[in-house]
Amino acid sequence: METAPSTQRVGMDEISALAKRRGFIFQSSEIYGGLGGFWDYGPLGAVLKRNVKDAWWRDTVELRDDVVAFDSSIVMHPSVWKASGHVDAFHDVMVDCKVCKHRFRLDHLKDRSQCPDCGSKDSLTPPRNFNLMMRTSVGPMEDTSAAAYLRPETAQGIFVNFKNIYQTARKRPPFGVAQIGKSFRNEITPGNFTYRSREFEQAELEYFVPDDGNDMEAFRQWVDRRKAWYAHYGVDSERLRFYELTESERPHYAKAGVDVEYLFPWGWGELESIAHRGTYDLDAHMNLSGKDLRFFDEASKRHYTPLLIESSAGIDRTVLTFLVDACERERSVDPNGKETERIVLRLHPLLAPVQAAVFSLARNKPELVERARGIESALRRSLRTQYDEGNIGQLYRRQDEIGTPFCVTVDYEALADGTVTVRERDSMRQERLGADGLTRYLEEKLER
Ligand code: ATP
Repeated sequence: METAPSTQRVGMDEISALAKRRGFIFQSSEIYGGLGGFWDYGPLGAVLKRNVKDAWWRDTVELRDDVVAFDSSIVMHPSVWKASGHVDAFHDVMVDCKVCKHRFRLDHLKDRSQCPDCGSKDSLTPPRNFNLMMRTSVGPMEDTSAAAYLRPETAQGIFVNFKNIYQTARKRPPFGVAQIGKSFRNEITPGNFTYRSREFEQAELEYFVPDDGNDMEAFRQWVDRRKAWYAHYGVDSERLRFYELTESERPHYAKAGVDVEYLFPWGWGELESIAHRGTYDLDAHMNLSGKDLRFFDEASKRHYTPLLIESSAGIDRTVLTFLVDACERERSVDPNGKETERIVLRLHPLLAPVQAAVFSLARNKPELVERARGIESALRRSLRTQYDEGNIGQLYRRQDEIGTPFCVTVDYEALADGTVTVRERDSMRQERLGADGLTRYLEEKLER
């Protein structure tokens, strides 16, 4: 008898093993033993990551007429980081164990009198500040005059260009500027797979609003929009929370703040922070550069500094969330009473690296292969597809693990009457339909 499948969450070790086995994420420089906090995205991971960025970009920029695009350099004038406060205050407090030489963030320690790794008593050094910015040098001299930093966030590139942007884009507050790009932080303890990396990507939106009493409304709207985004792409609402920061948890200049957090296998972790930052960032750059970055309002002939609502999300953490959230071990009993188990990645169809896989039932039957390849190349024009052949059970298993929502099998009936079998990932239901209507059928199912 067929029974409803039972599902189970999959642990982090298994997810990182799957990510490696299927080509989502590899350790950087693996053949040299890896480098802590750096990761490479494999053939499927690179597509998943791109899809996540596109999904953010579409919702934050393309679907709005009040947000413009930006792409700033990674290395900027060192004064940028002086003004932003990163040179003086962007540090974690760390301690070292004198016995095992391991290093810890003070705020991650439960007991300061004992090393959490080797268990030695009173072996931890006094706390020291450690600046998280990565240093580099610019030009042929490696002296202090050439010292520079790799950006620890993308936002500052937008602030220092504020005037260039609003003048050339002909925008007046309220309007936003969005950017996706790499950031670097010399994290003391990278870990939890890609969650805490030293090189990562951020998707940041800086939304500038006039000081007209509607600023909190704009803040709320962005929180709601981001909530809707995570929901649309299927993140389990039970494992996602929007934590309102209290006044004492916010920086002194921030009027409101919400941390978007996901319940990872090791506990809640931040994916994004949404903050009302007042005029802090533009003021800081005006003070140090001496340049006027205020907005000039033609109508009232008034200069003013707009207030800032920021949403800053980590792309790598979001990719990890989608992987963790989508991954399930499912046990079921098939119609013949046989117990089966599969790992299935229930990725949203718009995020899935492959949207439809097309199989030929047999490898050594040229007419089947040709027919299946023909169907796959026709679908390729509008969907992300993959062709494969061989044992159908194994092919389904592989596609389930990489999150492919639809598999199309071309068998002998396809040659006789032009029909194919479409199998749906989540329900495993199969349907026979004419190959002619396949593209339209799948496009509708994929909500394109
Ligand atoms: P955390 O407290 O976890 O170190 P943060 O509060 O310093 O993070 P922000 O400065 O608010 O992080 O950065 C915005 C977003 O950038 C974070 O919500 C996160 O998604 C991402 N991010 C920050 N640091 C890292 C990192 N080391 N690795 C991956 N993503 C990161």
